[in-house]
Amino acid sequence: MDTTTRDTVIIGAGAAGLHTARLLAAHGVDFEIIDAHDRVGDTWRERYRSLRLFTPRRWAELPGTRLGIGYFEFPTGIGFAEYLETCAAAIGAPMRLSTRVERLTARPDGRFHLQLSTGDEIIATQVVVAAGAHHRAILPPFAAHLNPAIRALHSLEYHGPEDLAPGAVLVVGAANSGTDIALEAAASGHETVLAGRHPGQVPARIDTPIGNLMSSIFIRRLRALTLDTERGRRFAAAHRGHGVNLVRNHLADLRRAGVRQAGRVAGVEDGLPVLESGEKVDAATVVWCTGSLPDLQWIDIPDVFDERGAVAHERGVVARVPGLAFVGLPFQYSVASPTLMGMERDAAYVVSRLLQPAPAAYAPVE
Ligand SMILES: Cc1cc2nc3c(=O)[nH]c(=O)nc-3n(C[C@H](O)[C@H](O)[C@H](O)COP(=O)(O)OP(=O)(O)OC[C@H]3O[C@@H](n4cnc5c(N)ncnc54)[C@H](O)[C@@H]3O)c2cc1C
Repeated sequence: MDTTTRDTVIIGAGAAGLHTARLLAAHGVDFEIIDAHDRVGDTWRERYRSLRLFTPRRWAELPGTRLGIGYFEFPTGIGFAEYLETCAAAIGAPMRLSTRVERLTARPDGRFHLQLSTGDEIIATQVVVAAGAHHRAILPPFAAHLNPAIRALHSLEYHGPEDLAPGAVLVVGAANSGTDIALEAAASGHETVLAGRHPGQVPARIDTPIGNLMSSIFIRRLRALTLDTERGRRFAAAHRGHGVNLVRNHLADLRRAGVRQAGRVAGVEDGLPVLESGEKVDAATVVWCTGSLPDLQWIDIPDVFDERGAVAHERGVVARVPGLAFVGLPFQYSVASPTLMGMERDAAYVVSRLLQPAPAAYAPVE
């Protein structure tokens, strides 16, 4: 077992971790990135193959590294994974891949202890958690009562039409992933029902040059909805736990593709999903597109979390645990925070705070 001592450790080598790494490197900080995946970008490789980002090139790029696509194009998920690998190489950040942080604790001397899946450990003065906002599936409680003969999977587990059983498909949740998967199920010949509240849609077609330019206006508005403004706080309260507007897909696309849109799923009766209308849907596959959460259960420092179990922070900085910060949390500073459009600004704030003279070290109650 090896023990390494570092000034700063970043947990997560996704876009949030790489933004943070670039800034720490520019300030000459001694740091290392730890990531559970085998390759930088694997979060994107694990998502459904047909995924195309809804973020225009200029908002998706990390400073200093060009995305090799046309100005009005949108990267594919796989293409973006390769791009992040290029960014990591350009930053030249020291990195341990295929290594999960199994437990993060606070030591009596105010530093942090990271227990790694390899058996090694790291002692760090500061830790930035950039572990992603979409790693734990949210399922309605009645999902457990589905007939086991129905193939059920969460959108995080869906890769492509080969995951669908022969027969009808019910997609539950009508936001961006749900509509993508419903359109793909219909295109591959399945009778498809899409259940859920319509979250609204961006009026323009983002895949046209004019729509692409208009999406920048929309992004600027989202970035302006910050938690230090009254409008931002109202927006956060109204949208927490809900999918954002449809960005690429439109209701007209669903109609054209023959996807039947239904109300919400109210529960499960006799093993079958039941819509609010009382209709039972006899589906061979149910795809739950019901959202996801960060997976932070390996953080064993009680003062990090508030009474609801959410990270207690101010713009990502955990005041009760000096030296600990987050990048990429939902609504960390704005609705854009867990997306490519918001995380660079959040990383810059977090790094600026970590570079300030250290406040009194965290002293856990033993
Ligand atoms: C289907 C889908 C589509 C999306 N499309 C877009 C889009 O078009 N545009 C956009 O801006 N955003 C999109 N998002 C949001 C998107 O997730 C973020 O933009 C971006 O990928 C988040 O980057 P991240 O670095 O915060 O997280 P991730 O890319 O998830 O990276 C987190 C990393 O942390 C590592 N990790 C986690 N826990 C540990 C641990 N304990 N030990 C070691 N390593 C750990 C993981 O292995 C992972 O590599 C989408 C999300 C989903 C689910």
